[in-house]
Amino acid sequence: MPTLSDYPKIAAGKVRELYAIDDDHLLLVASDRISAYDFVLDSPIPDKGRVLTAMSVFWFELLGDLVPNHLVAYDDDRIPADVRGRALVVRRLEMLPVEAVARGYLAGSGTSDYNRTGAVCGNPLPPGLVEGSKLPEPIFTPATKAAMGEHDENVDFAAVEAEIGSDLANRVRELTLAIYERAADYAKTKGVILADTKFEFGLLDGQVVLGDEVLTPDSSRYWPTETYEPGHAQPSFDKQYVRDWLTSPESGWDRAADVPPPPLPAEVVESTRSRYVQAYEQVTGRKFADWIG
Ligand code: ATP
Ligand code: MG
Repeated sequence: MPTLSDYPKIAAGKVRELYAIDDDHLLLVASDRISAYDFVLDSPIPDKGRVLTAMSVFWFELLGDLVPNHLVAYDDDRIPADVRGRALVVRRLEMLPVEAVARGYLAGSGTSDYNRTGAVCGNPLPPGLVEGSKLPEPIFTPATKAAMGEHDENVDFAAVEAEIGSDLANRVRELTLAIYERAADYAKTKGVILADTKFEFGLLDGQVVLGDEVLTPDSSRYWPTETYEPGHAQPSFDKQYVRDWLTSPESGWDRAADVPPPPLPAEVVESTRSRYVQAYEQVTGRKFADWIG
């Protein structure tokens, strides 16, 4: 059985680490770290890495007929025992430098762009939309991948064509919208709105392949259908609890002061953990207790 130190680490993001297994395979390890307001918090959320990994696997399987993906194995003797359940063996891809975002609803940077320009990433939208509005149809709203610590920047389709060429840009847009629609339809049957989501694609033998994590609460906005109401920010499934606590007087944190947030109290950690598990179970219809690790 290998240990993690057998593999060279090739990248580390806020939440995940990437190791090289061999020339063709990588190990993608999700930690229990959580980020909020662009800070990685001092308090890990137990099981978060396993929940996000289980969720990605669920979606890779459900979408398999629509798009090839990088998943090779999630339970395999190349995976060190201490990361079992939160690590994937994946095909090494040549990643395309595009954050492929699909939006079916207006939220976050989409709302800011719309309020400023009436469009999002060059997609014109009707007047009168508000934070949380359903869009007339899902739109492709790409962003450039920012360097670590910087914000991704929304760009229009022409910028993607300039970056990766027209054929690839069209393929990425087509896949992004097709996957979003399939996933949003599925989520709807589970009482969940998939407001938007981000994919990352890469090339393997000239084919466009879905990589990274997919349709997790960290890469997507999931809203409970029950409480959906346009006109204000929607409560999301999972991080909302953390965000609310951090910005409450109780935390003592001054968001404007640009200092790191305080550690989370045990009950906030525990509620957040159970919300991640609940999001997984509600969206997938699977029991988290049945997941490995
Ligand atoms: P952050 O998410 O903190 O802004 P990040 O996106 O660089 O930073 P992570 O998401 O933690 O970091 O790490 C995943 C990295 O692995 C990303 O850079 C992603 O493009 C890359 N990646 C995902 N799947 C593959 C793959 N199959 N082959 C090569 N690189 C991949
Ligand atoms: Mg990332």
